[in-house]
Amino acid sequence: MRLSRYFLPVLKETPAEAQIVSHRLMLRAGMIKQASAGIYSWLPLGFKVLRRIEQIVHEEQQRAGHIPMLMPTLQSADLWRESGRYDDYGQEMLRITDRHGRDMLYGPTNEELITDIFRSNVGSYKDLPLTLYHIQWKFRDEVRPRFGVMRGREFLMKDGYNFDLTKEDALHAYNRHLVSYLRSYERMGLQAIPMRADGGPIGGDYTHEFLVLAETGESEVFYDSEITDLKFGEREIDYDDVGQCQSVLEEFTSRYARTDETHDEAVFAEVPVARRRSARGIEVGQIFYFGTKYSEAMGATVIDAEQNQVPVHMGSHGIGVSRLLGAIIEASHDDKGIIWPEGVTPFHCGIVNLKQGDDAADAACDGLYAALTAAGLEPLYDDRKERAGGKFATMDLIGLPWRITVGPRGLKNGVVELTSRKTGESEELSPEAAVAKVVARYAGL
Ligand code: ATP
Ligand code: MG
Repeated sequence: MRLSRYFLPVLKETPAEAQIVSHRLMLRAGMIKQASAGIYSWLPLGFKVLRRIEQIVHEEQQRAGHIPMLMPTLQSADLWRESGRYDDYGQEMLRITDRHGRDMLYGPTNEELITDIFRSNVGSYKDLPLTLYHIQWKFRDEVRPRFGVMRGREFLMKDGYNFDLTKEDALHAYNRHLVSYLRSYERMGLQAIPMRADGGPIGGDYTHEFLVLAETGESEVFYDSEITDLKFGEREIDYDDVGQCQSVLEEFTSRYARTDETHDEAVFAEVPVARRRSARGIEVGQIFYFGTKYSEAMGATVIDAEQNQVPVHMGSHGIGVSRLLGAIIEASHDDKGIIWPEGVTPFHCGIVNLKQGDDAADAACDGLYAALTAAGLEPLYDDRKERAGGKFATMDLIGLPWRITVGPRGLKNGVVELTSRKTGESEELSPEAAVAKVVARYAGL
């Protein structure tokens, strides 16, 4: 993309309404624009990152054997009356009446809808296990929408639902989700720690929230510092292997890590004092096994091998796709702007032409652009007739991991400058070597 032809409405002033850095930077970098409280338009740059995050979520869900689909945003109230949640949900639910006087709602989540799909189509244990998911907009009429996309009213969520014959099978599905979430967050350059969470009215130990540590997080968390050393890394995993998934769960959940809702001072006191941490965190996902709550209420049963009609065991598993943009920026920025992890960056590499209109500089930039594109990368070429300082400031603000700077003086010596956004380090290289280095960084991502 050439910047002169793109739509990147960066702001010079720091918007007064934004209280936290990710919100400020998303507005300044022209990624989002508020449409009304807690509801945002995704401008081209923000939309690109949103799509990259979605893509990672899709890939990792499908790697785990989960099946993508799409359910609507508007749902019929009748299904929610069956589960009893139409009244329970309270004011967070946006209720709508259509022209025929039928009660509808903008879905805050999809347990009812998916259970209805399941019960209409699946009748035998032979069709299990089954995990379906989608990535769809949700609406929750939050009392206090704030912090930009972090606590919106309309937000994008991946929500997945597993259907299993037994509790044991459903717990394997739970573990599969835990593993796939660990992989997903790491690919986004994030450390998200699974923490024991509160099962709410349904109770039970089988729920974990994934938290990104950040001062601006809304959750209070307590953990054993050893947990921050854990990495999922490059290991191969067979998602059908019950033992393998279980051992990842044990590895990542055996140390103390809880949100304030489940925090227990007595148990925490057993962690050596030097390793005890209390901090704040951003919830970027949650996994939940809830047994037969919805299947019993809504008649989602299958025939088992002994010909008994039994309710299926279910769980639901969510990732806050739009919130993740805020969380990533909270975790990765400096005073000049965003620093995108390579896995989610909107463009792979910036190209800055120090002297637009200079034949040699223009030709070198075009050459770099063509070479990066041919290698399957998306460069953003700042081809505007602007001062170098302004171009650098824009590149730093929007946070592309790599920048290649091209000027007539360097070109006389056959070199361009390659700069890392993260470390600020620059090196002079031939254009070919600079391209090769950038391409190598993204290989395998
Ligand atoms: P919270 O406690 O932050 O209100 P939740 O526990 O009610 O969230 P879940 O039902 O677990 O949310 O939804 C799954 C994920 O969706 C959350 O982990 C979070 O990342 C994201 N999410 C929830 N509410 C919002 C919101 N208002 N704005 C943006 N993302 C949200
Ligand atoms: Mg939650």
